[in-house]
Formats: sequence, C-alpha cells, structure tokens
Amino acid sequence: MDCLFCKIVNKQIASKIVYEDDMILAFEDINPQAPLHVLVIPKKHISTSLDIKEEDFRLIGSLYAAANKIALENNIAERGFRLVMNCNKEAGQTVFHIHLHILGGRPMRWPPG
Ligand code: AMP
Ligand code: ZN
Repeated sequence: MDCLFCKIVNKQIASKIVYEDDMILAFEDINPQAPLHVLVIPKKHISTSLDIKEEDFRLIGSLYAAANKIALENNIAERGFRLVMNCNKEAGQTVFHIHLHILGGRPMRWPPG
C-alpha cells in the first residue's frame, strides 16, 4: 500500500519522532501551523475516522493518551491545545492514514476555517 504515514511508521521516510510505542507513533508536522504541531498516528493503517472499527477502540484511546502525554511534556496542557482529526475532503484531509493533530503554543480561534 502506497501510504505516506505507513512509510513513516516503517522508517522508509524520515520524520522527527517525538513519541513511539508498540501501537503509536508521533512526529512533528512538516508544515507546522502552531509553535507545537505534532501528528499522532496509529501504526496500524486506518484510512479515515469513518473506518475505525470496534476492535480499534482501545487503539484510539491510546492515541488520545499519547496526545495528552505529549501536551504535558511540552507544557501546553494547562494553557490549552487543540486536537483535530480531519475526515475526508471538505474537512481538508490530505493523508489517508488517520492522524490526530496536536496544535498548541498560541491562542486558537473558533470556529476553525
Ligand atoms: P491532513 O490535512 O489533516 O490530512 O493532515 C496532513 C498533515 O500531514 C499536514 O498537516 C501536513 O503538513 C503533514 N505532512 C505531510 N507530509 C508530511 C511528512 N512527510 N512529515 C510530516 N508531516 C507531514
Ligand atoms: Zn498508512
């Protein structure tokens, strides 16, 4: 399967890794939209949030737990941060391997564009 993030998981493409365990990888976004912009992904390929199955529920919980750990370690937890998972075209999903964006280090506006 020709998936950019699977290649990052397999270390075929380099990334700046900030967290890794047996199920999860987190790395810096190549085009950061905030002082901290990290992508947290499952090592398992899941194309969109619509493809999350019941068997993945634990994995998705682990994705959020990893995001919390990264936010705490980077001292953005208390001031606030945003977790975003875009789904499909109109939301702006460009890489079809699910990823949680962690955005922090600046005030966030609402609603997003
Ligand atoms: P989305 O638009 O929600 O699918 O997010 C995809 C994200 O992946 C964007 O924020 C891109 O900047 C980021 N991205 C694309 N290629 C790479 C890469 N090789 N390494 C790190 N981040 C990437
Ligand atoms: Zn993939």
